[in-house]
Amino acid sequence: MCKLFLAGMIFALFCSVNQLEANENMKPLNAKEEKIVEISMYTARGKMPELKQALAAGLDAGLTVNEIKEVLVQLYAYCGFPRSLNALGSFMALLNEREAKGIKDVAGKLPGPQPEGKSIDFGTENQTKLCGAPVKGALFDFAPAIDEYLKAHLFGDIFSRDNLDWRTRELATIAALAATEGVDSQLASHIAIGRHNGVTDAQIDWILENVKSNTLSHFPRGEENTAYAKYFIGKSYLAPLTKDKRLNVPVSNVTFEPGCRNNWHRHTGGQLLIAVGGVGFYQERGKEARKLLPGDVVEIPPDVDHWHGAAPESWFSHLAVECNPENNKNTWLEPVSDADYARATSEKK
Ligand code: MN
Repeated sequence: MCKLFLAGMIFALFCSVNQLEANENMKPLNAKEEKIVEISMYTARGKMPELKQALAAGLDAGLTVNEIKEVLVQLYAYCGFPRSLNALGSFMALLNEREAKGIKDVAGKLPGPQPEGKSIDFGTENQTKLCGAPVKGALFDFAPAIDEYLKAHLFGDIFSRDNLDWRTRELATIAALAATEGVDSQLASHIAIGRHNGVTDAQIDWILENVKSNTLSHFPRGEENTAYAKYFIGKSYLAPLTKDKRLNVPVSNVTFEPGCRNNWHRHTGGQLLIAVGGVGFYQERGKEARKLLPGDVVEIPPDVDHWHGAAPESWFSHLAVECNPENNKNTWLEPVSDADYARATSEKK
């Protein structure tokens, strides 16, 4: 009874400390967790310059060398050896550079000894605990070898390394999968596993927003588009890409969260859209909406009422080229109502 009480007290204390850290900047994740998300997303994408910055920021935020190593090692199970090895190579080089500059990074804890017995046994136990129920399925009967590797190696050998807790491991996995195309079902599974291991809905939303918006294309996402927010429904981001006035070709990357679209509007000089990531829509007044995928180009004639934005369930990015910018004027009109947006986007699904 006394033990239970003590455990409860410690748990409450842990929660309040965690809460305090999270509330400091009113963000769902603390600074160290945010950096684990960034490190994982750039590892999965193989974006080495960005990864190096995130690794340095992670160390500066207080992650230990061994915590980061543990994340990068685990990610080989989700991104493959090439991505994991490249990330570890980049981390090793960074540590050498920092040491040469006199920065003393904290090594942190190494994992303790593995549990007694066979990996397949304690791995199966770990997997069941992690997921909340035994994991079975036709696919594992079809290819029993992959079931054994998942249980013995990933959830046995790797998840028994106790210098990173399971919740943190799931933050890394969710971020890596969100950054990877075509793994929606695995992402959904790990979101469920994350929730089962203490990751909150707000934390999952934060990860998905930050990872999806930063990995839609190779163009920068930019900052939240607050200047034009009054002409949009939903959140958008704007990254100006050109600046030389002599060329006079303003090009921006515009990123829309799922469901986000701009108001009806027109440009006196016309506009060119080039879809670069996710799924979006474009509609001219009185016409059917057009679904947009990366590589699609829209030539918007001058003075034609239209709107553009994301599909209801997908992030979307397009480049926007301002045409005839020397005398172009934009006229903003009424928002695209939920009913009109639903009609426009559902017909094209
Ligand atoms: Mn437009």
